[in-house]
Amino acid sequence: MSEGATPETVQQAMTRAARSLDELGLAYSMRDVRRLMTAALAIKSDRLTLHLRDDLPPEVRIVFDAFCARRGKREPVSRILGGRLFFGRWFKNSSHVLDPRPETEILVERALQGDFDNVLDIGTGSGCIALTLLAEKRDATAIATDVSPDALKTALENAVSLEVSDRVTFVVSDWFHSVDGRFDLIVSNPPYIHPSEMNALSPEVAQCDPHLALTDFVDGLTGYREIAAQARGHLHPGGRVLVEIGPTQAKAVQKLFVNAGLVSIAVHPDFDGRDRVVEGFLPDS
Ligand code: GLN
Repeated sequence: MSEGATPETVQQAMTRAARSLDELGLAYSMRDVRRLMTAALAIKSDRLTLHLRDDLPPEVRIVFDAFCARRGKREPVSRILGGRLFFGRWFKNSSHVLDPRPETEILVERALQGDFDNVLDIGTGSGCIALTLLAEKRDATAIATDVSPDALKTALENAVSLEVSDRVTFVVSDWFHSVDGRFDLIVSNPPYIHPSEMNALSPEVAQCDPHLALTDFVDGLTGYREIAAQARGHLHPGGRVLVEIGPTQAKAVQKLFVNAGLVSIAVHPDFDGRDRVVEGFLPDS
């Protein structure tokens, strides 16, 4: 709080902040403001209502106002808070990784419906896919790759905090270049945005997610081509591939998988009914 600023209650500060975010054209401003206030007060979200009439301590106001100013510049709440929940677990983010998305939970959910002992995650970023699979399946192991060593630092921190670091090996790799071995399951959320769509991204995504994690700068399909080409050499017989896709890419990715000899190919929708995950299997023999 600047010297002499009028004292406010928690509720008044939230109303003031939401109004200024509204004026900047942000949607759902009160939802974001509540989360930022909860973090500034360092309380659990279900306790916020109990504090609405309290005076906002000046030192908390400084933090809260700084959070809201960042949101006003279109940083997502998850970036301001340094992480978010994914499949019920906290994943730290950094400027080097894609912020985990709820749609990606669909891929994890599908993965857990099948059996696997070892998994390869291509382009792991924060590690949200591979590490969630290890946390859910306590006897599995994983190799998680990324072309960015800085991304792998964030993934390692997440592996440590989720207590799965003894079951994951991180490998700096451009696609499959440094990957050896065969796996029961290959998963990936590759950079799939077509370069021509990069201009249409919201400022939250365009300013905060690394562009290397968003687009291949080619046609959005490079990751699927690489995975299709390598599936036979890196899957056990009967092994499975699961990739996240953009909603318009299902046909193209299915075709790549069919041409690579994968079978039982299925497309799974996200919560909004858009195509989001493609699954395929290597035949048993
Ligand atoms: N789902 C992300 C988005 O549309 C894109 C991530 C990716 O390319 N893998 O913001």
